Amino acid sequence: MIRVILRILYYVVIFWIVIKIILIFKKKKEDERKHPFFKYGVDEHYQKDKLVKDNYCNTYIPQGKAISLNYDGQLLYFCSEECRDKFIEALKRKHNN
Ligand SMILES: [Zn+2]
Repeated sequence: MIRVILRILYYVVIFWIVIKIILIFKKKKEDERKHPFFKYGVDEHYQKDKLVKDNYCNTYIPQGKAISLNYDGQLLYFCSEECRDKFIEALKRKHNN
């Protein structure tokens, strides 16, 4: 009887570990989606709650919610995709002049 219980316990532990691993991978994927350049290790000071400045509208947003853009090897942050796109547009205009 004890052996049966031990076996069940063993499977429960294995199952729990597998779930944990899946959750870690899911979290990592989510981070990569939010920060396309995060996976390259450009920003080694990443902190979800750290405030970063929007390079276009100059507001401050938590890094975890910011849209990042790798510009000339430097990570820039934006409060929204709209701000990021406007910033890129402004850069293009600057280059054309
Ligand atoms: Zn903005």
